[in-house]
Amino acid sequence: MITKIKGTYDLLPEQTAAWQQLEEVIAAVSKLYHFQEIRTPIFEASELFHRGVGDTTDIVKKETYDFLDRGDRSVTLRPEGTAGVVRSIIENKLYSSPNLPLKYYYIGPMFRYERPQKGRQRQFHQFGAEAMGSFDPRLDAEVIGYAVTLLKALRLENVKVKINSLGDKASKLSYRTTLQAYLSTQVEGLCTDCQHRYLENPLRVLDCKVDHDNPILINAPKPLKSLNEADQLHFNQVLAYLDAMGIDYIVDESLVRGLDYYTHTVFELEADLPTLGSQATLGGGGRYNDLVESLDGPAFPAVGFAFGMERLLLALESMEQKKPASYTHVFMIALGDKASVASMNLLTKLRHGGLICETDFFSRPLKGQFKQAERVNPKFILILGDDELAQNVVNVKNTKTGTQETVALEEVYRYIVDAIQSEAHQCSGHCSECEDDCE
Ligand code: AMP
Repeated sequence: MITKIKGTYDLLPEQTAAWQQLEEVIAAVSKLYHFQEIRTPIFEASELFHRGVGDTTDIVKKETYDFLDRGDRSVTLRPEGTAGVVRSIIENKLYSSPNLPLKYYYIGPMFRYERPQKGRQRQFHQFGAEAMGSFDPRLDAEVIGYAVTLLKALRLENVKVKINSLGDKASKLSYRTTLQAYLSTQVEGLCTDCQHRYLENPLRVLDCKVDHDNPILINAPKPLKSLNEADQLHFNQVLAYLDAMGIDYIVDESLVRGLDYYTHTVFELEADLPTLGSQATLGGGGRYNDLVESLDGPAFPAVGFAFGMERLLLALESMEQKKPASYTHVFMIALGDKASVASMNLLTKLRHGGLICETDFFSRPLKGQFKQAERVNPKFILILGDDELAQNVVNVKNTKTGTQETVALEEVYRYIVDAIQSEAHQCSGHCSECEDDCE
């Protein structure tokens, strides 16, 4: 038997409903903030990630899926979404649009050769956003507000926003030198990887996954101390906008991020929820003012974030949200040959009217058809036998209330639509007042 590749998984039909709901919430919140969807290829020239994400990051050094294609080109399955979006805006000259900032979001698979565990796969999915073309601190606040609103719309609780600033390229470089000097005096106290890492990428040492409680790291010099006046002002303004937007945050002076391209604002969203286990980070992001230029585009400041979709879904499992509502409106039970023919006619009409319907395809006896209806979990069960057909009626059972009524065949569509609408409490999506989710 051929089995799936380690670190990948199948999304079976019983799980896709939750994904679709998450994607719908993302699309709705993105509209609120006027972000539009962009879709870029899942593989790109390897050089894009080497130059974009950084040669010395763990992601590029140890985790990329690189291969030579049949034309001997070195290609890489994307480990993150920003580099591809930036390549696309440069290649398509979107930076010259008069309609700035560009505000894009994406959802799609990413690939990293990491040790698989709960909340960490080799093929996983990210929802990310990029706002490009402005260095205004309002845009940093807007992007964080968008991320926070998404978590609110999902009704996720116990979420923390951690924020810090690395300053511009020069501030970051000066901080790098200070940090490297500090670490060089206590190399033996670092984890084996960091004993080398501190030389080529000292900031990554602070983001060490193995050793985050190490006092050497906790007491390390902080990037905020290396900020110049303009960087500090920008950071203060971002915080002031967040205050005005009613967003709670914690300034975490030790926060750096694993990717090289960040400058100025960096942030992470963390949730303290049992289903997440040790993988508490739902997402993170920051400014990357120099990335577009470093990939041969113009000076084009930008800020963005990425969430792990699997993590968001894991987090939602902690919220004891009710089972997603049944999206099947009707299960049709037909008994007898004539009724079977008539049921196919009725099903067609109901479906053309927008109702989601299912029926029996095994000529099961009545009891078996009811059992199958239970599995499908519809809002209504329609029972049509030859007797009902002779009178042009059908029995309609409301599975929520348990009531059953006889309804004229030509009335049944209206009857079901009216019943669904009166249940909907004039809200769309999930309504806390309803026992079930509303439609
Ligand atoms: P990063 O691009 O490393 O900042 O990751 C952003 C988010 O993607 C993280 O906060 C996680 O939620 C998610 N993520 C990163 N790597 C993985 C992985 N291997 N498996 C599942 N989710 C991941």
